[in-house]
Amino acid sequence: MTAEILSVGTELLLGDIINTNAAFIARELKQLGISAYFQTVVGDNKERLIAALNSAAARSDIIITTGGLGPTADDITKETAAEFLGLELTLDENLWNGIREGMLKRGRPVTENNKKQALLPNSGRFLHNANGTAPGVIMEKNGKTVILLPGPPFEMEAMFKNEVIPIIIQKTDTRFYSKTLRICGIGESQAEDMLKDVIETQTNPTIAPYAKSFEVHFRVTAASADAEAARKLAQPVIDKIYAVLGENIYGEDETTLEEAVISLLLKKKLTLACAESCTGGLIASRLVNVSGVSAVFMEGIVSYSNESKVTRLGVSPETIEKYGAVSKQTALEMAAGAARVLNCGVGLSVTGIAGAGATGLSVAATDAAESNIAGADIAKTAGRRGVPESDICAEDKADKQTGLVFIGIFVGGHVTAEEFHFTGSRNRIRGQSAQTALDLLRRKLLNGN
Ligand code: ATP
Ligand code: MG
Repeated sequence: MTAEILSVGTELLLGDIINTNAAFIARELKQLGISAYFQTVVGDNKERLIAALNSAAARSDIIITTGGLGPTADDITKETAAEFLGLELTLDENLWNGIREGMLKRGRPVTENNKKQALLPNSGRFLHNANGTAPGVIMEKNGKTVILLPGPPFEMEAMFKNEVIPIIIQKTDTRFYSKTLRICGIGESQAEDMLKDVIETQTNPTIAPYAKSFEVHFRVTAASADAEAARKLAQPVIDKIYAVLGENIYGEDETTLEEAVISLLLKKKLTLACAESCTGGLIASRLVNVSGVSAVFMEGIVSYSNESKVTRLGVSPETIEKYGAVSKQTALEMAAGAARVLNCGVGLSVTGIAGAGATGLSVAATDAAESNIAGADIAKTAGRRGVPESDICAEDKADKQTGLVFIGIFVGGHVTAEEFHFTGSRNRIRGQSAQTALDLLRRKLLNGN
């Protein structure tokens, strides 16, 4: 069976956005063992879209489109595909009522063009959109299947996983078993290198790496005539990957790093307090993604200024004076202080130099505690900018570089801190700091604390 991808959107043709949808679908098809020999990009233009559908239908069994399912006039994929297959569109009252009610509930005005999203080609059926309004559509005619998916990747990817994969699997005689192993703390190339021997000798199951933000996923997929046989093919390879990567694997399938951390805290009946400087609440925000987190996560303090570190967390002013706000010693005292002040078994701290952001004020006003500029210079600069000197808290006199981050962990009565050197934009450094802090805590908890 062959499939091909038809990406619809003038933005794509003009290079305004990158065609990540095609890359995602291509990888998924490969995992499913479906051959995909062509990818096309076409603008929001009816004639050219029909021409592209024509070529695709002449050479592939399944055509998967993305984009152009929204309510606006330039969203023409469904109407055009229905016309191409000679199918009529009728309003699905049930779906229309659902869309209308949803919009009213959210206080959004319902306009006539929203009705477009509830138009269904006869003999077609809708695919549920878990993350948005526009449903997908699947239509079949003369042995050809056309699957229309929305453009926003967040909507498309969920729809592909939940709705499209089962349909494709049904169409093949092959049954699949797949498991995703989620890895952090080591980079993609290091992980691949460690797994070299396992990956090289495998064709069924396949092992596909996916680089994600600050982590790597490996999806193991086995194909066989029945699902249980596929599982049995995959399991020894999954075991081998566990044997090689060990505790670098933090979870499977949809498990997130924060979930892994929280389940360890629950298991060990420990409570957590966070003291975040350069991450500014990113860690807390990730923790509260997990429902039920209130059993273990007590409080997160965004302790940005030196004054806050002293008054809220009990960091000694001498420590900051001697070593700087961005130092191992300060990270140690922040972690221990958070645990003590908030009466928790575990304290997690981050202090670092995230550097200037694309839109940030350049010097003292935003970054005083984490600037790599000597304290005296900050004072001068800030003075010139009209920032009162008393607001400036950078007694960090050492020549510290952007990306320098210290992460402290207090657990089991002991406090430790580690030094990191991250690179990239301000947001990247902050994201990496939050990820690494969660991962370090996970490893500490795993190793008996
Ligand atoms: P909407 O209801 O948002 O209008 P849609 O299904 O009509 O969705 P488009 O209007 O084509 O889809 O695209 C909406 C947005 O989705 C684009 O602005 C872009 O951000 C993203 N997008 C569309 N196609 C792709 C693609 N191939 N790869 C990555 N992102 C895409
Ligand atoms: Mg649109």
